[in-house]
Amino acid sequence: AAIDPAAIKVILGEIAEETLALRRVGKVASYIPELAGVDPEGFAVSVAFLDGRTAEVGAVGETFSIQSISKVFNLTLALGKIGDVLWRRVGREPSGNAFNSIVQLEQEQGIPRNPFINAGAIVVSDVLLAGHEPKETIAETVTFLRFLAGDESIVVDKAVAQSEKATGNRNFALAYFLKAHGNLVETPDRVLGVYFHQCAIAMSCRQLARACLFLAADGRDPVGGRRIVSAQRARRINALMMTSGMYDASGDFAYRIGLPAKSGVGGGIVAVVPGVGTVAVWSPGLDATGNSLVGSLVLEKLVQRTGWTVFGGR
Ligand code: GLN
Repeated sequence: AAIDPAAIKVILGEIAEETLALRRVGKVASYIPELAGVDPEGFAVSVAFLDGRTAEVGAVGETFSIQSISKVFNLTLALGKIGDVLWRRVGREPSGNAFNSIVQLEQEQGIPRNPFINAGAIVVSDVLLAGHEPKETIAETVTFLRFLAGDESIVVDKAVAQSEKATGNRNFALAYFLKAHGNLVETPDRVLGVYFHQCAIAMSCRQLARACLFLAADGRDPVGGRRIVSAQRARRINALMMTSGMYDASGDFAYRIGLPAKSGVGGGIVAVVPGVGTVAVWSPGLDATGNSLVGSLVLEKLVQRTGWTVFGGR
């Protein structure tokens, strides 16, 4: 059936109503003051369709900290840079552990399980940094996002980046452990400088949905008409998002929602509906696994009503 953005917008409005009371149930990330101070009532959902149309509800232009959602874009850039050689340094299996867990790194000789847990993302940042200055590498990610979203206003929230560094002892532990195992080329300090700034990029749901459209369209930006990655690579990034994008809740998320997705502790989630479009949702309250509680619920309800799942016979 042809997609009617106006009908989807009505559905989004209903879902926003139904989940309104749950916005205060989740816990806003509290490890840095910049995130702890975010209004738990903040809410937005933006659906971007392949033809450029959108269906949006809430504060879709309001920016928030994308945090781990940046890991999708950095992975895309790193694969573009060194290709499948990346997989010698990072695995492709779900971790079954918290995003910032260190246990498997010791068990598995410094090879992180996947590029979407912190340890794996730190290796990806190291790949992007190699031979450059941190400033250039940070700019590379920001420039890529501006290009994908068609929006030059995207920037790093410097205060968030500063706080990430000040409180980033676990990430330093991960980076030093990687370094000890020879899986970091640059110094932990330089790599994490890059990693923290990438996490601190601020974007809106509108920008995020737009930026991920290439993943719903076989690697080609369907609006701008430019190829971003090959069809095979887009499929593979989606596969990784499906298996590892929601941290330790990836299995549950695949069961409930059935879409490739990536979350961040800023309360954002981006989901990809291949052949249809993308959905970016933001609600800062998190569940115990660090995923947006209302965000997951919104996606679950949306999929129930639209049949947008990769496991159905559309
Ligand atoms: N900056 C956070 C960290 O490194 C990002 C984590 C996340 O979004 N899951 O711990």
